[in-house]
Amino acid sequence: MHGIDGGLQDRNHHLGGGARGWKQRGARLGDRPATPSEHEVTPVTDHGPVPPGILVAGAGAAGVSAALWLRGLGLPFRWIGPEAAVGGTLRRVGNPIANYPGCRVADGPALVEKLLGDLDAEGLRPEDGSIVELRGSPDAPPEVRLDGGRVLRPGHLLLCTGTRPRLLGIEHESELLGDRVEISVTRTLERHAGKRVVVAGGGDAALEGALLLAARCPEVHVVHRRDAFRGQARFVDAVRSSARIHLHMENEVVALDPFPGGLSVQLRRGEAIRAGALFVRIGVAPCVPAGIPPGCLDTDGYLRTSLDGHTGWAGVLAAGDVTGRQHQSVAWAVGSAARAAESIARDGGWKALSLRGDAAGDAG
Ligand SMILES: Cc1cc2nc3c(=O)[nH]c(=O)nc-3n(C[C@H](O)[C@H](O)[C@H](O)COP(=O)(O)OP(=O)(O)OC[C@H]3O[C@@H](n4cnc5c(N)ncnc54)[C@H](O)[C@@H]3O)c2cc1C
Repeated sequence: MHGIDGGLQDRNHHLGGGARGWKQRGARLGDRPATPSEHEVTPVTDHGPVPPGILVAGAGAAGVSAALWLRGLGLPFRWIGPEAAVGGTLRRVGNPIANYPGCRVADGPALVEKLLGDLDAEGLRPEDGSIVELRGSPDAPPEVRLDGGRVLRPGHLLLCTGTRPRLLGIEHESELLGDRVEISVTRTLERHAGKRVVVAGGGDAALEGALLLAARCPEVHVVHRRDAFRGQARFVDAVRSSARIHLHMENEVVALDPFPGGLSVQLRRGEAIRAGALFVRIGVAPCVPAGIPPGCLDTDGYLRTSLDGHTGWAGVLAAGDVTGRQHQSVAWAVGSAARAAESIARDGGWKALSLRGDAAGDAG
């Protein structure tokens, strides 16, 4: 193992991504304080000594980019994601991706296939694992608590944990999830083809989902709590001109009443729509592990970072969608993760974003 305590095998290192050279060193790297995770043999790369154990969390576009860049930099690392699944949000993207330079694809899953190909070429895969909580004080790298009770003590933690879809928070929603209440349109379209369906939401995800559903379902009801949509004009125009899509503006889903094979979707203004499925597409929330102090977050709950990815917690960096709602794209996920990986290689020791000044202007 290389600097991370715990039961995980250093799989990505053994698969061939090790450092470019090895050098005997004492128990200290520079003047960094000693930790239980330090080892007597410290690998050396073109950038100097390898920083103490690196843990990457998340296997969406940002996590994949981080893994490929760390491999390219010759840094050994551990990489975890829930159920070891690769793709993250991309698996829910049904529209063509045409704004990631050099890589036009029909939809998110097609890009995931390309990412898997890149990982195969490097012999890389995440391990099954999910961060539950960070413990410690933000002036030193945290103790990382994983599901299943495992505890890791990395010198650097790169959070690429992205976002998760928001839910309505109403009765029966959770118990019907994956059955008659759905988050993903692309993954469930075939199962619900031919049914009357309801879509809750008014942004890109809701409108794009409604359009995909309208191609396969006779009646699509879109319920949005505002009087105007927030989505891109191309989606709004297409939704408004579809004969199959019925709009319920300034309205909300307030209750669900399941029956065999369907559910009654009750709206605030009194209507009830008998449908085969409800698609909840009301935006996303950042996946920030418990234990991170509020001072490390922006007003929307996303992780504040310096330009090179450092958060307000020493040794904890972040990349991709979890770093802000303003710039969520494949290009940002890939680029910010590359930059964070290079920061780790360059810095060697622990570092934290100064929370005294403006995060956006602080290059860390
Ligand atoms: C409908 C839709 C259309 C889009 N269209 C485009 C487009 O055309 N062009 C474009 O550039 N972008 C588009 N995007 C945005 C793009 O998909 C995202 O910006 C990008 O995929 C985010 O990647 P990420 O790795 O930062 O996060 P995610 O893909 O969310 O990955 C996060 C990963 O972290 C894991 N994770 C979460 N919590 C933990 C934890 N505690 N421990 C360990 N792992 C954890 C998750 O399981 C997931 O695998 C679209 C998004 C949507 C929803």
